[in-house]
Amino acid sequence: MADSERMAGVLESVGYVGSEDASEADVLIYNTCSIREKAEQKVYSALGKQAKRKRERVGDLKIVVAGCVAQQEGQTLLRRVPELDIVMGPQFANRINELLDQANDAQVCATEQVAVEEDITTPRRESNITAWVNVIYGCNEKCTYCVVPYTRGAEQSRRPEDIRREMMALGEAGYKEVTLLGQNVDAYGRDLPGMAADASGRRAWTFTDLLRYVHDVPGIERIRFATSHPRYFTDRLVRACAELPKLCEFFHIPFQSGDNDILKAMKRGYTAERYKEIINNIRRYMPDASISGDVIVGFPGETEEQYQRTEDLVREIGFDRVNTAAYSPRPNTPAAEWENQVADLIKSDRLNRLNKVVMEVATERAQRFQGRTLEVLVEGPNPKNPAQAFGRIRHNKLVYFDGDGKSLRGQLVMVRVDECNAFSMFGEVVEVVGARAAQPGHEQVLTEEQAQAQVLAAV
Ligand code: SAH
Ligand code: SF4
Repeated sequence: MADSERMAGVLESVGYVGSEDASEADVLIYNTCSIREKAEQKVYSALGKQAKRKRERVGDLKIVVAGCVAQQEGQTLLRRVPELDIVMGPQFANRINELLDQANDAQVCATEQVAVEEDITTPRRESNITAWVNVIYGCNEKCTYCVVPYTRGAEQSRRPEDIRREMMALGEAGYKEVTLLGQNVDAYGRDLPGMAADASGRRAWTFTDLLRYVHDVPGIERIRFATSHPRYFTDRLVRACAELPKLCEFFHIPFQSGDNDILKAMKRGYTAERYKEIINNIRRYMPDASISGDVIVGFPGETEEQYQRTEDLVREIGFDRVNTAAYSPRPNTPAAEWENQVADLIKSDRLNRLNKVVMEVATERAQRFQGRTLEVLVEGPNPKNPAQAFGRIRHNKLVYFDGDGKSLRGQLVMVRVDECNAFSMFGEVVEVVGARAAQPGHEQVLTEEQAQAQVLAAV
């Protein structure tokens, strides 16, 4: 979504306007995902239709495939669908206008590894309340099932001052919530120059330092981040999250499996025990925090017993949410070549069983909100019922309540929760807080001067 918003922003800055109707558009962009095979198949079925339209259409129509399927398939995609004008990997999202110019002369295949250029255009954001802000692109891990390192390339951290500048502009434009984004957002800074001035041996910039550096941006009331890799989720990061008032008590930390041998075969770099330790640590400082994760069932060689350990971990942690997936063999990944693949029927059976456990656990966890009055950032009217508004609590759970979503959009309201389901809640407004004045800074939050000094030391 963040990449799509960026492409739309670049195109608007050079005069394109969005079209509601694909059959009217002069440029069609498919932004694609290849994390699992199903996502990849979707693009081929959509393209067939458009290729036919292009053959029949008088006048110019440009068809673009962007994102991870484009990166993965490259020239093959151009050969397979000759009507395509551009195939472009995710690292080119902010250069789509240049590629469109090049495509006037010939088919374009932009899939080489490049440094993602810092860009001066503004994404066309879907929301005017909440925004994504990239902090690190790519991934340096080598999880044996995952295509991301091949499609999104090596890690590249954005400079702290560029991130802060983007957040300042968002705050000025009235945005209230920012989600800092990265494949492994907590690995931020490993590729930035310099070491910390103290004797800690840390890099000059870690994700924890970044959080402290951007925390006081005026207007931004809430800060979230995703996705966190357990390997980089340090105690220092946990403490910073607990100290910084704008940091929401919601943590998305994929665990992938509850079995140590499977985790090892996945090359995840932690054990189930370490994962539990991280969550315990979070709960020590923020007892009420919401925890979500991703998990894969049916990884090659997974036995019923090993699968059971995943169920056990879901119960033991008490997740608020889990994104479950059946293992899908991906091109270029080691695990896809292994001979101990799990049969599809077993995978789907485990997926169904796990989904039931997740639902049970999430529903039970949700009950802790029952009867409480919680701060909700209103995002607008409920699309299914205009008499209701909806928003999120700091724990990232959706709340619906009677009220005028249009006028309340962007406001903080206090809602008493009357009904809790696994993934959403219903309640009643007890107070409109409006916008909070700038948060009182915690004593350990950097002052502007201290933060600037850190930047100078790092660059
Ligand atoms: N960088 C993040 C996750 C990014 S991919 C992390 O490491 O935690 C998002 C999720 O897709 C992963 O957490 C994983 O659960 C799932 N996924 C990745 N490759 C997959 C595959 N081959 N089959 C099934 N699920 C997969
Ligand atoms: Fe990187 Fe996450 Fe994929 Fe592992 S699962 S390779 S950390 S994107």
